[in-house]
Amino acid sequence: MRKRGITLIVLFFLALLWGASLLIGDSSNQKPKLKEEAIKWIEDHQSLLTNLSDQVWGYAELGLKEYKSSKLLADALEEAGFQVERGVAGMPTAFVATYGEGEPVIGLLAEYDALPGLSQKVSSTKEPLEEGAPGHGCGHNLLGVGCVGAALAVKEALAAQPFSGTIKLFGCPAEETLIGKVYMVKYGIFDGLSAALTWHPGSSTKVSNGSSLAMNSFWVEFRGKTAHGAGDPWNGRSALDAVELMDYGVNLMREHMELTSRIHYVITDGGEAPNVVPDYARVWYYVREANREKVEELYQRVLNIAQGAALATDTTYQVNLITGVYNTLVNDTGVQIMHKNLELVGAPLFSSEETAFAREIQKGVGKPEVGLAEEIEPIKEPPKLAGGGSSDVADVSWITPTVSLNVATTPKECPWHSWAVVASCGSSMGHKGMLVAAKTLAATAIDLIHDRELLKQMREEWKEKTRGFTYKSPIPEGRKSPSLPN
Ligand SMILES: [Zn+2]
Repeated sequence: MRKRGITLIVLFFLALLWGASLLIGDSSNQKPKLKEEAIKWIEDHQSLLTNLSDQVWGYAELGLKEYKSSKLLADALEEAGFQVERGVAGMPTAFVATYGEGEPVIGLLAEYDALPGLSQKVSSTKEPLEEGAPGHGCGHNLLGVGCVGAALAVKEALAAQPFSGTIKLFGCPAEETLIGKVYMVKYGIFDGLSAALTWHPGSSTKVSNGSSLAMNSFWVEFRGKTAHGAGDPWNGRSALDAVELMDYGVNLMREHMELTSRIHYVITDGGEAPNVVPDYARVWYYVREANREKVEELYQRVLNIAQGAALATDTTYQVNLITGVYNTLVNDTGVQIMHKNLELVGAPLFSSEETAFAREIQKGVGKPEVGLAEEIEPIKEPPKLAGGGSSDVADVSWITPTVSLNVATTPKECPWHSWAVVASCGSSMGHKGMLVAAKTLAATAIDLIHDRELLKQMREEWKEKTRGFTYKSPIPEGRKSPSLPN
């Protein structure tokens, strides 16, 4: 009797320990099974996910106008039991969907905006669905739904066991204009995250370990006086002259910039008729550099040139900073964790019909007809100079450790932001890449929820790299919601 009593007490304490271990997350032995279940959930729900991505592809809504796309994704998550908060960070098409309780809190960054003028059918030659309408030339229809698929699959794994952990899907609008996440960071939407995960469609399959450039996007508007171009030009002061002079000044400055600097501009307004001296002109600039400090420095030099141009042409000028982003802070630990999961899932395998379609597209854009990437690229030493582009995922990477992957959805060497990307991201090639991304993201999230040691290592690297750093929003103080160029 006494012996049985002791045994019962021992069993009781063992059960208590087991329960506590689940709550503090020491459940790494459950991981393989949970990952398998999450991957299977995505396989079993392929048609749900591909339907969602095709709907977003069809909506093809521009940044900050993704009303139907964001509603579709938010509704799907709400129906599955997520708590959804809509219209966050001063943007009607931004949302947060949450499932679970307690730490760790793993974020997924979904995007769904399209690009202007890229409307295209799922065909191997340039053929707009609707002339001049937007199209998904960056594959964000797949990006958004891939993250939703991962969130739903992780939810299943969380629901099956009494683990502590939260999955949050962030509906991030207007990535193409580098606006959405910058405002979301400004509003503290990503605060409290343990880590963030995302992906991007591409022409290869790999975990990203390269940085991106910090950037400022801004207009300079010049105002002068109209007059007859021949009759009384002495009464006129040309705003277009000021723009031309500013651009000339900036182009001279190029000789004296660092190799990491990138500056480009378009003149959005330059007058209406040659015989009317333009009293209004506007130029839209991107200034990019390796980090925020260098962007601020270069930006100031460009503004000095604008001031000089206004003075020289007897015009006035006004600067409107539209947005700015940071460079990406790479988390090498996170890269390794995600790479292992990508290997577990495997690269997308394309059918002979898909390969033939890819080759036709390549022919259509004048590239070698080599088909699609079907291997996972190994993790290589990142280039010394960051790639030419910028992303607002970068701003999240300074708030919480962030890792991202690319999955092949598009034929090799296809020009990005083109009709060819729209066509492939609306086809079964794109769907296949998206499902690989969803599985990899889900498996990585399960790693971070169920293996606190991995998460700790990832966070320690991030803490080390951000020591002494305070995030300062590139957006001017007091601005509550974005202004978009028209
Ligand atoms: Zn993109």
